[in-house]
Amino acid sequence: MSLIQESFQRLFPDKEFPYQAELNYNLRLSDFNSNIRLHGNKINLNLNLQWKDIDDEIKIGLIQSLLLKLLKTKRNTVNIELYHNFIKNIPTLTPKTEFDLILNASFKRVNEQFFSNQIELPNLTWGTDSRTKLASYNFHRDVISVSTIFKTAPERVLDYLMYHELLHKWQKFRHKNGRSFYHTSEFREAEREYPQQKDVEEEIKIMIKRPAYRKSLLEWLLN
Ligand SMILES: [Zn+2]
Repeated sequence: MSLIQESFQRLFPDKEFPYQAELNYNLRLSDFNSNIRLHGNKINLNLNLQWKDIDDEIKIGLIQSLLLKLLKTKRNTVNIELYHNFIKNIPTLTPKTEFDLILNASFKRVNEQFFSNQIELPNLTWGTDSRTKLASYNFHRDVISVSTIFKTAPERVLDYLMYHELLHKWQKFRHKNGRSFYHTSEFREAEREYPQQKDVEEEIKIMIKRPAYRKSLLEWLLN
């Protein structure tokens, strides 16, 4: 029995497996990522190559969550629990490769001020100069990425973005009925502990409205 069929049968012991299923490992997907597609009765499942050596019981949990998404059904199983626990621990398994001095300094300040230095250093990197995606935490790769428009931002602004992303790392994710909640009320409450949070948010709004080219144009004219 294929792993996909096995996963299905454990979810629906009374049902027949009506699909043709194919599982492939590939390197194009990012770390520990996966996707699933259904065409007619054919299921195509792609897993990042890193999954290859992972225990089948955990993989079954992953496949079950993908199948449930595909079938728009909710259910919890021991395997899905295993899978979620595995995912939560990935950050501690991922080697630190990315580092930046400004971001590292911000991380240190925030970690000390808000988390009593309890958070392990994640990968820290600058993203693109996005005004819509200001910062993010990728929990498969344990990377905090911050838009380059904040490279020259005041510390309180950069630290606020860092604080938000570290809260994600701190809370990892909570799941309920297979759904993930990122900005829970608990999260928002913790976020409000940041000093002058409202002012800093206003400051960010102004920063993302101000076109960067105006500044560079001015610099260009003055030089
Ligand atoms: Zn967030």
